[in-house]
Amino acid sequence: MNILDMYKEDKTLLSFEVFPPKKTSPIESVYGVLEELSSLNPAYVSVTYGAGGTASDNTCAIASKIKNDYGVEAIAHITCVNSTKQQVADVLGQFKEHNIENVLALRGDIVPDLPPQTDFRYASELTQFIKDTGDFHIAGACYPEVHPDAKDEIEDIMNLKKKVDAGAEFLISQLFFDNRIFYDFQKRCQLAGVNVPIEAGIMPVVNKNQIQRMVSLCGASLPAKFTHIMNRYAHNPEALRDAGIAYAVDQIVDLIANGVSGIHLYTMNNPYVARRICDAVGNLL
Ligand code: FAD
Repeated sequence: MNILDMYKEDKTLLSFEVFPPKKTSPIESVYGVLEELSSLNPAYVSVTYGAGGTASDNTCAIASKIKNDYGVEAIAHITCVNSTKQQVADVLGQFKEHNIENVLALRGDIVPDLPPQTDFRYASELTQFIKDTGDFHIAGACYPEVHPDAKDEIEDIMNLKKKVDAGAEFLISQLFFDNRIFYDFQKRCQLAGVNVPIEAGIMPVVNKNQIQRMVSLCGASLPAKFTHIMNRYAHNPEALRDAGIAYAVDQIVDLIANGVSGIHLYTMNNPYVARRICDAVGNLL
């Protein structure tokens, strides 16, 4: 099913992100997690691609499992900066064989010890390439706090417009902890003519390591309210987990009340946390 058809004026979608297991773990190790997450009835589940040392081969297998075995729509991520056109075409062929209809087209991070390939420089070029195959519905990533490589927010939003013009039908945002940043970003999108649904990326922070990791990886700014809570419960793992869930629920309630198209929950493959959040906001969507 085309995920774009799921968006409705007066409804907010709730979707999940999962990642494949580390290269050293068998793919079966996540099946229990997928089954539990699918039972929570998300609108769809997105599956990351080679991010954070996970095996990208497994993206297709996991997206296929979610869609074909658990009956939940899936979106497979795909990155391009380290791939040739032929490699991308091969991966897309695999997706098609497994009945996957939706893809999240990404550039991927440029890492110093892996010089990029030259076939694709930006996600917009990958988006156009996938669109030309005619086989997939395409989503793109966006950055309420501006992508770290961009010169400024104007350049970044103009580049986002190129991605949408190339064929990105909806957008999923990078995580953020301050809703005002997302609302400002929505206004910039309107001004730039980016008029597709935008899902707000929410990550419940439920342990201390996650905070450091998230900030160093994506540069999200931490509002004082958030750091006070995290510092207050830093030495009590259970309380920190509950406070992190409460903070995410608070963000989500405000986002729903403000009419966002969707909430994309970075589940970190943690069904317990996802369930607590679904229980808290399920009736509000
Ligand atoms: P782009 O849209 O290409 O943007 C990258 C930079 O290039 C930006 O600064 C932009 O302003 C600039 N730019 C874009 N187009 C142009 C142009 N035409 N001319 C000049 N500059 C331009 N990474 C993974 O490895 N695997 C994943 O599964 C994954 N999933 C993600 C899911 C989400 C929802 C998000 C938000 C990110 C994800 N990432 C993932 C991280 C992502 O790959 C990185 O953030 C990457 O650095 C940028 O990817 P992009 O697709 O947003 O790039």
